[in-house]
Order: sequence, then C-alpha cells, then structure tokens
Amino acid sequence: MPRVKSRYHRQWRKTNDGRAAAPYSGEMTTATTAAATTAAAPRLDPRKFRDPRVTAAGEPRATVALTTLDTLWFNTGTLCNIACENCYIESSPRNDRLAYLSAAEVGGYLDEVERLRLGTRLIGFTGGEPFMNRDLPAMLSDVLERGFEAIVLTNAMKPMQHKKQALLGLQARFGERLTLRVSLDHYGAAVHEVERGPRSWAPTVAGLRWLAANGFRVHVASRYLSGEDEATLRGGFARLFAEVGIAIEAGDPVALTIFPEMDATVDVPEITTACWGILGKSPDSVMCATSRMVVKRNGAAAPSVVACTLLPYDTLWDLGPTLAGAAGAVALNHPHCAKFCVLGGAACSRG
Ligand code: SF4
Repeated sequence: MPRVKSRYHRQWRKTNDGRAAAPYSGEMTTATTAAATTAAAPRLDPRKFRDPRVTAAGEPRATVALTTLDTLWFNTGTLCNIACENCYIESSPRNDRLAYLSAAEVGGYLDEVERLRLGTRLIGFTGGEPFMNRDLPAMLSDVLERGFEAIVLTNAMKPMQHKKQALLGLQARFGERLTLRVSLDHYGAAVHEVERGPRSWAPTVAGLRWLAANGFRVHVASRYLSGEDEATLRGGFARLFAEVGIAIEAGDPVALTIFPEMDATVDVPEITTACWGILGKSPDSVMCATSRMVVKRNGAAAPSVVACTLLPYDTLWDLGPTLAGAAGAVALNHPHCAKFCVLGGAACSRG
C-alpha cells in the first residue's frame, strides 16, 4: 500500500473513534474505506524514467512541445502556514527550497510576455501558500492592470484572511478576472484534517464563506484522497456548498477540480510516442503544452523557468532564466507525467 494512503487510513480511523468533530457529511462508507485499503501497489521499477530519450524498454519517449504559453505560473515560494501529509511540493512552515519571488521579478516576466507577444491569457500563483509572500497583492495588481486574468491557489486560512482589505480592493477593481482556488481535500472535515492537520477545516471554510459572501470568483481544488469515486465526491461537495452557502457548481470540473493522487514511488507505465495513438490523446492536451512556471531556488541569483507546476525542484525540467529559452519540447521522463498528466488526465491550469 502506498505510504500516504496507509497513514491516511490509520489516522482516519483514529479520528473516527470519537476524537474529532463530526464532518459536514464526510463519513466514509464501508465501501470507500475498503477502496482506500486496496492491495499494495507495486513499487516503481528502478529502470524506468532514467533516460529522457528512451524508455526502459528502449522505445522513444514521448515529448510535449509548447504550443502556446496560455498560462504562466509563478511559485511565490514554498513556505506554507501548514504542512500537509502528502503535499506534492513538500511545502511547510520550514521548507524554503523555493524562495519568495519579488513583485519586481514577476514584473520582469510579465514584461517579457508582452515584449514577445506570447498571447498569455492567465497568470497563476501557487506556493507554498501564496499569501505568505507579502508581495502577492502587488503582483496581482500588476498582473490585472496589464489585462491578464489571475488565479491564486490558496488554503484560504489566516495568511489570506490577513490580506482581506487588499483583496477587496482588487475585487472592486478587477471583479471576475481574479479567481481564488481554495484547496479543500474532501467534503468532510475528518478526511481534510487527516491530510492538512487538526483545526485546518474551520478556518478554510470560513475563508471560503468570506470569499463567496464578498463576490469573489471562487473555485475549489480537491483530491481523490478518500478512494471515493467522482460522483460520490461531487455529490458530497454539492451538499457542502449548499450547507455553507457557496455558489459553486459541484458538477463543473473547472469550478471543482478533483486531482488524482500522486505518489512517485508507485509503478506506472512510461509514456512512449506510440501511447498518444493508443490512448487517443493529443500531446497538446497535456499541461506543459500550454504552460510554464517560474521558480526561484533558494540561494539562486535569479528565477528560472521550469516545465510545469509539478516538477519544481529537478534540474532536468529547468529550462533556463527566460521564457524565450523555455519554449522547447519537454520529455515525459517523470512518473507524474504518466500518472498525473497522461493517464490521470489532470491539469493545473484550467482557470
Ligand atoms: S508532469 Fe505533466 S506537465 Fe509536467 S512535464 Fe510531465 S507531462 Fe508535462
């Protein structure tokens, strides 16, 4: 069994022995508990994902060319106010492997987008918790003044709530061009708090309520953490949204995105050039065909552009300091490429 689900299941059972407040309607059924405890998944074959050009079987590895830079992400820094059980980027109150970007650095990349006429529509901010970066309101103002759309991925907890005045000003000036996407790992408190820690549910729901009550465009990001199927999860979220008075359409895959779980230690098939035809899928549908992310590694003199939001640390996906230099094709040489993007069908950039 993957480590996270095992720990998740063990802790979930503990919280349901009466030590946690009852979730809104988040109890897992016997069937879903069973789904979360299915047989151990095989470990990743160490011969896989070694060579960007060919797979372990010697077949040509799939690549994805940038078609257009529709979305440019900025990782504002990996520091976060909480430490999730299975954060794909390992954000925490101590992880500063990706340093805070400054508003001036973000502005430099926006200048490049405009100078090169890249046709970029959406500017995304992720972390860490982006509101931990004190420059975030200035970055958002710059982005929106230039006419881009903006999305911020947030847990809606205290760091965001400390910026209420600035957010209200942005909302008044730019309205629906600003989206806040709030991470809610389940429709019930118990599962959410196993992942995000005790007492993490109520502040996030309070943040969601405040955003909704003040007319912000709000989306929610969740996960298949509990082992429940999509219909069950969307049904649970529909009940939650109705209970707390948030006007989000739970059946809309953009308004409520549900991400597949990522565990880079579990075995997955490698993606070859033949896979596109076999799967009936276009390389253009994968996130790195239309997006890049800017990061600033701790100690680095300047930010770098990386292939995508999922692979911020590995230098194999570091495409250099400029957007112009980051337009080349990306080799799908990581388990996330297969599990999350090609086989899981997820994308971070549907604003
Ligand atoms: S993880 Fe996905 S978006 Fe990132 S390089 Fe691999 S296929 Fe592209």
